[in-house]
Amino acid sequence: MDKQKQVLILPGDGIGPEVCDEAKKVLIHVNQSHDLNISIEESLVGGKAFEETGKPLPDDTLNAAKKSDAVLLGAVGGPTWDDLDYHLRPERALLGLRAELDLFANLRPAILSKHLADSSSLKPEKVLNLDLLIIRELTGGIYFGEPRGRSENKESAFNTMIYSKNEIERIGRVAFEAAQKRNKTLCSVDKANVLEVSVLWREVMTELSKDYPDVELSHMLVDNAAMQLVRDPKQFDVMVTGNLFGDILSDIAAMLTGSIGMLPSASLNSDNTGMYEPVHGSAPDIAGKGLANPIAAILSVAMMLKYSFDAKEASLAIENSIEEVLSEGFRTHDLEGPQDSKLSTSQMGNKIIEKLN
Ligand code: NAD
Repeated sequence: MDKQKQVLILPGDGIGPEVCDEAKKVLIHVNQSHDLNISIEESLVGGKAFEETGKPLPDDTLNAAKKSDAVLLGAVGGPTWDDLDYHLRPERALLGLRAELDLFANLRPAILSKHLADSSSLKPEKVLNLDLLIIRELTGGIYFGEPRGRSENKESAFNTMIYSKNEIERIGRVAFEAAQKRNKTLCSVDKANVLEVSVLWREVMTELSKDYPDVELSHMLVDNAAMQLVRDPKQFDVMVTGNLFGDILSDIAAMLTGSIGMLPSASLNSDNTGMYEPVHGSAPDIAGKGLANPIAAILSVAMMLKYSFDAKEASLAIENSIEEVLSEGFRTHDLEGPQDSKLSTSQMGNKIIEKLN
């Protein structure tokens, strides 16, 4: 049996604990069925952690995350904590974990299940067989650049968009390698007609492409990329971009697949230690009602098995079980379908486990 691997689950706030419960059930199941030797721990994060410890990212949680091979996070935040100081807000925990674990590569697949083509905001023929991977740089750019702040008279405010060659190169390599494993085309998105930082981004990507002659690299301006994503998303295979542009483009891509409740994500460092989380937030409007779709969280477990543990069979088994459940017409409340097809959060988790059996 392989060396024991440690997974830390951080359920967080709102629907986070509900969807994590289902993801945990699935992880426990495949751990046994595929003999993965994973041990699971849980810790506090976000608003809940603030209530109990006064910090959204307590030291114990951060230390546990650093010792783990992978982290599964539910979601953080909610109206209860909206008026807290910036550094105490639940969302700070996410930035803290990303920075402390050096999770610079954010992988967001947008894959449309063929059974959900009617749930997309685009016409079914525009999205059928959509399988797109957006790779977003996660620990640099304007979200972290210094200086930032307010002018002395408080009449203006500023942030700094900064990327070093090294930062661009390391996310570029992740993207080229991902493209090599897929259709060998990579679109790099920037704003090189206006931003100096994007001119450097484009230069580094072009230089890097010499190391990956089998991958066809193209460049696109971010405004055009946003438009092309809703005009003809299937023209893309892998897209790579900076922190701010990636944040926005990946949410556009999310809606193409029907519901934000379907999309997982992985944030990786250079050792492939990763944090995995659904793309959605804590959905306070439906929290505690059994209405949340747990599929994004369960697919996040599938990504964890693939990227951090190289357990491709177990990962595929989860993806196939989800497809089977959807093909039989079962839906959660966020997905289009007749009322009698709707399952609660835990019923959906149980159905997926039934198929794994
Ligand atoms: P949200 O993603 O929580 O919700 C947006 C809409 O999608 C809501 O109507 C919600 O009910 C629905 N939805 C989201 N996930 C769903 C699921 N799994 N199943 C069914 N429906 C789902 O975004 P928001 O409302 O803008 O943010 C709510 C809170 O979450 C805020 O405090 C925000 O800061 C936080 N947030 C956290 C994260 C994170 O933890 N990674 C990400 C985004 C937002």
